[in-house]
This record gives sequence, structure tokens and C-alpha cells, in this order.
Amino acid sequence: MKTKKVLIVHSKSTEASAKKLGLQYYDSTFLCISGVPSEYTTDISNEYEQVIGVGGGSVIDTAKLISKDKRIIAIPTTAAGACMTTYATVWGESKRSITTKKPILVMPKDLKIKLPITIQLSTMFDALSHSFESLWSTNSNSSSKLSSCLAVKDLGKFYQGGSIKHLISGGNHAGEAIEVTKTNIVHAVSYPLTLKYGISHGLACALVLPYFITYFGDHALHTHFKHRDSDSLVWHLKHMFPYYAIDVKLLKIDWKYVIHKAFRYDKIYTTQHKHKISENMIYEIIYELIKETA
Ligand SMILES: [Zn+2]
Repeated sequence: MKTKKVLIVHSKSTEASAKKLGLQYYDSTFLCISGVPSEYTTDISNEYEQVIGVGGGSVIDTAKLISKDKRIIAIPTTAAGACMTTYATVWGESKRSITTKKPILVMPKDLKIKLPITIQLSTMFDALSHSFESLWSTNSNSSSKLSSCLAVKDLGKFYQGGSIKHLISGGNHAGEAIEVTKTNIVHAVSYPLTLKYGISHGLACALVLPYFITYFGDHALHTHFKHRDSDSLVWHLKHMFPYYAIDVKLLKIDWKYVIHKAFRYDKIYTTQHKHKISENMIYEIIYELIKETA
């Protein structure tokens, strides 16, 4: 038994794994969270020798925020990629990123993780957005491009019936990619969808990502999804959106508002063709979606 005083952050779905892990330590405290980190999370003091996060992006970001300047141990169970980045996102009236230490990644031993299908889709689309936005970023370099390609390769395996292991690994590579480039256009448009309409982060990305792939291109990565071309991949991604889980029409999204708010985030200008990016341009790119959800 390790004589450390640890805090293990987890969610309801990773509770059993967290409790099992806690047995390895002399003094374990557990914190079960059910939502994204808020400003309140940043006020929690760190009285522990080691903070550990077992779960998805919100769990790992919460652990990073509590741990302050000490590296956490991150055991990811989704494709959020938060274990590869040096920041955490805090959500409130608006959202902000806080610089953190990069976690120490430990892949889960027990890969019989059961994620509800909507969570699987949501986290896959989030990681796909990280991968493509990184490729479209003006900050991309050979190492980030390689990470994006490895991510899409793993996510493609998952898409074709692979295991959660492929999903997590793809998410980690996508996390490496955005650690270099940061996210840009898809995430900028997704934030107002989450903040005003309550659409979860991954699903907000899922709703708009396919339209941006049509515009910015897929860097021939459709082959990893075994599609003959980019159009075929885009068609399938659009049809994978879990409309059964969220009735987008009911939300009566004011797209003009969403697109306007997206420009609050400077990251939008790290997308390639940055000089062309305008509210009108985004309106045209996602026009079909606007028509369908009106
Ligand atoms: Zn994301």
C-alpha cells in the first residue's frame, strides 16, 4: 500500500474503478462529480499529496484545477484528451481556460469500461473536432499533424466497431495535437451552443463539424473510416448525430446569435484562410444545418 494521501476524482460511471484504485493507497478521499468544472472548482484547496482523475474530460479537468501546480495522475475513460493538455476549461456565464500542469497519463487497466452510446458518440466527435481543427490550424506543425492523423486512424477503428481502447487512444492523440495548436473554428461555434442552449460539449461539436469538413477538407483521412471520399464521410457523420437524445429543433437555436458569439473567441482566427473568416462565411458553411433546424 502506498502511504500517500490522495484525492480521487471520478464520476458516477467510474465510481467502481475509483474505489478499486483507492484500495492501493493508505489514505484515499473520493470526489464524485456530475458536471463540468465551474469557477467554484478553482477555489477548492489542495490538501493532498496526489490528485488522481479517473474519467472523462470534466473529471480530469476538475482534478487538474484542484491539484493546482502539482501534476495529477490521469486515467482517461473517454476520448476527451484532457490528460494530454496543459489547461482546463471552466464553464459559467462564459468559458475560460486555466493553465495547469500536464497530467501523468496512465491508461486504464480495466478496459471493460461501459459508456452509454450517446457519450461514446459525443466524445468521438469531440476528439474528431480536435483532430481536424488542429490540421486546419495556422499553428500546426509536423508533430501536431502526425498526432491528428494517428488520432483519426484510431477513431476510425473505433467507428468501424473497434473497442473503447481505440476511442481513448484516439482521444489522447487528438489531445496531443491540440496541445500544440489549440482548437479553433468548430470549438468557437460550439461554445455558445453549450452556454446558451445547454448542448453538451461533444454534441455541440458533432452538430457543426461535418459542415466545416466539407469546407476545409478532410486531408484524405476518410480512408481511415473506410469511406470512398470526403463527401461520403461527411454524409455519415451528419447522420450519426443522436437526434433521439436531443431534439435540436425544439431548442429554436438563434444561429445569428451563435455565429456572432463565436467571434468572442480569438481562437477562431487561428483557422486557415483566417482573413476570409466572417459571420457571413460561417452562415454559408452551415446553411444547410440552419435550414434543417429552423
Ligand atoms: Zn473539445
